[in-house]
Amino acid sequence: MTTDVTTDVTTDVTTELTPESELIIDRLRQLRTLDAPTHGGHVLSYVYDSGLAELDELAATAIRIMQPVNGLDPTTFPSVAAMERDVIGFTKRMLGAGPDAAGSDEVVGSVTSGGTESCLLAVKTARDVWRAAGGEGIPRLVAPVTVHAAFHKAAHYFGLELDLVSVGLDGRVDTAELIDRLAPDVALVVVSAPAYPHATLDPVGAVAAAASALGIACHVDACIGGWVLPWWSDDLPAWNFEVPGVTSMSADLHKFGYAPKGVSVLLHRGRDRQRAQFFATKRWPGYPVVNPTMLGSKSAGALAAAWAIVHRLGEPGFAALSASCKRATDALTDAIRAIDGLAVLGAPVGPLFAVAADESVPSERRIDPHVWADRVRQLGWLLQQQPGLTQANGVRLPPTTHLTITPVTESVLEPLVAALVQAADEVRGVASIDPMQVLGAIGGVAELLAGSGGGEIALSSDQAFGVLSQLGIGGGAGGETSASSGGVLPDQLAPLLTLIEALPAPLTERLLIELLARLVE
Ligand SMILES: *Cc1c(COP(=O)(O)O)cnc(C)c1O
Repeated sequence: MTTDVTTDVTTDVTTELTPESELIIDRLRQLRTLDAPTHGGHVLSYVYDSGLAELDELAATAIRIMQPVNGLDPTTFPSVAAMERDVIGFTKRMLGAGPDAAGSDEVVGSVTSGGTESCLLAVKTARDVWRAAGGEGIPRLVAPVTVHAAFHKAAHYFGLELDLVSVGLDGRVDTAELIDRLAPDVALVVVSAPAYPHATLDPVGAVAAAASALGIACHVDACIGGWVLPWWSDDLPAWNFEVPGVTSMSADLHKFGYAPKGVSVLLHRGRDRQRAQFFATKRWPGYPVVNPTMLGSKSAGALAAAWAIVHRLGEPGFAALSASCKRATDALTDAIRAIDGLAVLGAPVGPLFAVAADESVPSERRIDPHVWADRVRQLGWLLQQQPGLTQANGVRLPPTTHLTITPVTESVLEPLVAALVQAADEVRGVASIDPMQVLGAIGGVAELLAGSGGGEIALSSDQAFGVLSQLGIGGGAGGETSASSGGVLPDQLAPLLTLIEALPAPLTERLLIELLARLVE
């Protein structure tokens, strides 16, 4: 059957909206005014702005053309397979995959809905391959503690034990310690290129070699680095499929691929390995099902947008955007290192980094990164606040402020640096918040903590909401709330982050669940 695209109203016919529809669109625009700005470089996480207006238009047009298509079935909609083939081919070339010296090309892949789905499927696949090879009991997933939370989720969903290796204060894992954890019950070891919290580039070569010698799968999580590190620097240690023991990689197109949200790539070395990712069944009275990824019916829109952007940019386009990110990252890290009282954590690789208090200066010159980020936000720039974390070995990773740099950042460097410096000057020497003081102000939480003994906590929805209200979050009674957070979060987040660090994980996680659930209710 040939398809007549001109019969499809969404491709090129522009139908005028009725006044009724215009009103609905007006309401949508009104809702969007509540959001953080997605363009212009004022939000230094979540959004990846190429700074090229034409790319947005290209993506919008591609999405519009694919709007009615169901990505579930590439036999009915071959355009989906064609776009996916193209995108995977480009990703492979960029990540050092392709025919080896003997001409064999064993790296195959899928397009997924995002980094989390790529990571989930990498874990599920490794678990199933491990079981098929005779693995019994609960498999382990080994990774540095800086591995993305998506792997916590994967271990939780798919029944693996997460075995996290503590890192040093520079964010680096001890390679020998990590390799020491590898044993026959390990289904997968994960390293990151780079890891999200501090942009640490993990020791991919050594870990992959050790894993390979033991027959253990090794995933390189390049969700954030995959579309920018290929053009970052000539002297990076090998981090992709050029390393022989690397068995899978993830790279998000909706980050430095500049595509709209909903698209990532997962590659595996070996067709047989990748086939373990798929699910098929004929054991129901409906159509025979075969899905490479987690979703059934799915949009082809983000894939089409990514496909169009990859073609439009090509290697030279990505190289130019990466170079812009690098110039801006260098300028910003230089500027922050020059601020008395702040320090860039470790040796970040790629367009992201974390800022901590400089512990080498006396406390009256030190800057608390969360108090700083709160002040920077009042000046119009949104940085991401990361709580401190006490690791299994007792070493506490400090609280930090995270910045992700995108090509648009270069165009706003001057006012951004000015705001970072001004905020630093205004909060230098301001003491960090004592979590016990915050806790003391809210009696209910202290009682809960006493009752829980720091362990599992079974709060009803109403109890959890009560605690949130006492904390002044979730739209309940309490302190000043911020217009930019829709009235849900307080203006000053530093006390909240201190609490998140101090409270037991099960309690904090329960409260986070309640916060998000109530936000929608
Ligand atoms: C963003 C990210 C993920 C998860 O990706 P989502 O697209 O947010 O689901 C996984 N790993 C790393 C290193 C990331 O930066």
